[in-house]
Amino acid sequence: MAIASINPVTGEVLKTFTPLTDGEIEHKLALADRTFATYKYTSFAERAQWMYRVADILEAKKTEFGIIITLEMGKTLKSAIAEVEKCAHLCRFYAEYAPQFLADTPVTIDAGQALIRYQPLGIILAVMPWNFPFWQVFRFAVPCLMAGNVGLLKHASNVPQCALAIAEIFHAVGLPDGAFQTLLVGAERVANLVADPRVKAATLTGSEPAGQSLAAIAGHNLKKVVLELGGSDPFIVLKTADLDVAVATGVTARVMNNGQTCIAAKRFILEEAIADQFIAKFVEKFRALKVGDPMQAETDVGPLATPQILQELDGLVKATVNAGARVLVGGYRIKQEGNFYAPTILTDIPLGAPPYQEEFFGPVASVFRVNNIREAIALANSTNFGLGASVWTKDEREIELAIAQIEAGSVFVNSMVKSDPRLPFGGIKRSGFGRELGIEGIREFVNIKTIAIA
Ligand code: NDP
Repeated sequence: MAIASINPVTGEVLKTFTPLTDGEIEHKLALADRTFATYKYTSFAERAQWMYRVADILEAKKTEFGIIITLEMGKTLKSAIAEVEKCAHLCRFYAEYAPQFLADTPVTIDAGQALIRYQPLGIILAVMPWNFPFWQVFRFAVPCLMAGNVGLLKHASNVPQCALAIAEIFHAVGLPDGAFQTLLVGAERVANLVADPRVKAATLTGSEPAGQSLAAIAGHNLKKVVLELGGSDPFIVLKTADLDVAVATGVTARVMNNGQTCIAAKRFILEEAIADQFIAKFVEKFRALKVGDPMQAETDVGPLATPQILQELDGLVKATVNAGARVLVGGYRIKQEGNFYAPTILTDIPLGAPPYQEEFFGPVASVFRVNNIREAIALANSTNFGLGASVWTKDEREIELAIAQIEAGSVFVNSMVKSDPRLPFGGIKRSGFGRELGIEGIREFVNIKTIAIA
């Protein structure tokens, strides 16, 4: 795939980039390696100053960066600006808390003193996706840099201007050259990068095949990886739920980011007693969604990022309908230029049809009916994914059951699944392993050194 910015609204090629040569990659690797030798000795206070300045730049230029994001991948400008603001918040969070998260931890042992120290590892490679082209990168880069590591970014090939803009921000605040660099390269260059002895670990957010490929190479080279892959999160609504809030939140949780979010609510599992009511309100709200130019303030849903994503989604919907499902609203590509897909709700989905196992990366909701919480949990757990889950009920017993039995990296009760710098984020099963964010995230890429002094 060529490295290019292509406007998903028009298909216009905005800019193309020549991938780095072997020599240029080597130059960047060598620079990162040299930089780590001194960067690892910088203090938390110095690193924090850089991150506070990064936050200031993000806020000052949030509209400028938001426009780049929207032009390259099609999310609404208002959500792109919100994404940039969230990155600024993340910078300030880790600038403030990293010293505490990575402080020496004393441990009482039989004789003498013991402590745990968290030391940086070296160059960390990040392979990142286009769906949150700023957030996903900052979520990796900020804790990486605060921990004293240096970062190399291989961003998705369709968001090169975002990749370059991010590198420029870190450069502008005076972070040492080589502490954070972007590599404009295609996916085929990742294997050699992971295998390079100077690269100590890697993190990838994206599809299962990409995660498998990276993990295999990392395994062969005995390197640690964190993987944040797909999801097919359940959104369970039980009979005591506040229906209006659940419906409104469910719509947002499904169509946010034009439906291209790993933690989007994808499978709506409704208790029979409220299913008809929920569906009627849900359909009404889907019908009212305004699909169109993501630069316009009134737009709710923009285009999908690439023609491939559109084709994949359309294929999954067609396969589901061919298997016998019913379309309640939408169900088609919008016949105009650009990668637009109509917000869609599917119901009466036969067992084994794609919504049971596939990730629908676009504004398509699948609706299921169950008789009680136990059936809801069984259905929620019946996929290979295990990223997040949202459960709506006022019943304490149901809340406890959901927390105890849902197989996922997170359970949100009476709210939608969302990422927050303070909370660990990640999945189980085929959604990946390891955690980003929170104290757990910053401790993924450090040497947790045990020290005992007799
Ligand atoms: P990919 O997983 O292909 O892309 C994500 C990143 O991985 C990109 O930087 C990509 O590079 C890189 N990559 C791709 N293949 C490999 C590989 N074999 N080895 C190493 N790196 C690789 O996602 P797509 O954009 O193709 O989207 C496909 C599907 O993936 C979506 O429909 C969705 O289901 C899922 N996805 C999930 C995301 C999430 O947040 N969990 C995010 C994005 C996608 P390049 O761009 O150069 O190919």
